[in-house]
Amino acid sequence: MLGGVENSDRQRAALRAATLTGALAAALALSGRQADSAASAPAGAGATYRVVIDPGHGGTDPGAIGNGIVEKEINLEVALKLRDLLVLDTGDGGGGAAWDVLMTRTDDASVSLGSRTSLANSWPADYFVSIHHNAFSSSSANGTESFSFSEGSTSAFVRDNLQSELLAAHGLLDRGSKTANFFVLRETAMPAALTEAGFLSSPVDAAVLSAPGSTDRAAQAHLFALQRSVGVAPYLPSDGPSNYCVNTVNPIGCSPTISATGSPSLSGPAVQIVGDQILSRQFGLMIWSRTQAATPFFGGTLCVGGSIVRTPIQFSNGFGPQDCSGRFEFTMDAAFLGASGVAPGEEIFAQYWFRDPTALGVGLTDGVRLTIRP
Ligand SMILES: [Zn+2]
Repeated sequence: MLGGVENSDRQRAALRAATLTGALAAALALSGRQADSAASAPAGAGATYRVVIDPGHGGTDPGAIGNGIVEKEINLEVALKLRDLLVLDTGDGGGGAAWDVLMTRTDDASVSLGSRTSLANSWPADYFVSIHHNAFSSSSANGTESFSFSEGSTSAFVRDNLQSELLAAHGLLDRGSKTANFFVLRETAMPAALTEAGFLSSPVDAAVLSAPGSTDRAAQAHLFALQRSVGVAPYLPSDGPSNYCVNTVNPIGCSPTISATGSPSLSGPAVQIVGDQILSRQFGLMIWSRTQAATPFFGGTLCVGGSIVRTPIQFSNGFGPQDCSGRFEFTMDAAFLGASGVAPGEEIFAQYWFRDPTALGVGLTDGVRLTIRP
């Protein structure tokens, strides 16, 4: 917002400058920004990037309020969704990159600006992204703008990526990429940018920002911008189950399937893994938290990559009918996942085997791949 943290940033800066000698203040400013130009090169494939996500305001400081939207709340909503996407991107086997994420707040807490930058500097983070929304005394002010401390820096590159992705996500007026002497941009020792996706005080912007899916699009825009900033193409990781192979040996005339009702969560509702059309006098469900390429299994292979670190985290036997009507449902809840020791972003793989009652051969179904959500 224009009247909140950004002004208090300037007040803090003025106060700080007044209490330091010129030389010390200059050294402090240097220590806050010297790493920026040096950190311009992406660390390359296989790197894990440390990101601090900073939802602006919180607690006793609501930030801007307009058209029924409270800035501290929408900032946090977008930030938490961005965190989830970065976790998914890390665990996802597809494109994107790997990330470690720290949040300056995860709930409605009051957090000082100094605590926010200290967290990032002491970690230390590779990137700092502060999420804000604007307001102005006139409801006619509208549009998207993004900030860095200076031009020609990695911060400005990240800022420009954020600005273009937010414009693509919301389609609001382009107010441009700008520089500002904001506390969180000045006192962070790594590339840092701050977004103001729109004006809560503008009926035009507020309608877009409160539309269904708007915070999802905003989180995706921040994800895409971070991905571009580390040199990879924008990539939206899958948050649902996906089958990872088709691997049925000893075809027996049925079409056995496996599916899941959603993404398993360490804090959310349970999901079910369902096997259908099983012809079997005996079958077993297997769930791994990591899998191994071409592991021999009764003459078949488990066609997934990586190495098994816990195998299996679940294994169950059942006895089914001698036609294609066999079915099982396995409920996977937060308690089960917690006991299994899996972490958010980790992938798990489920597959079941079945025994052909006539030939006494063993078949393997497709596998389903799921990413653990926080
Ligand atoms: Zn703000």
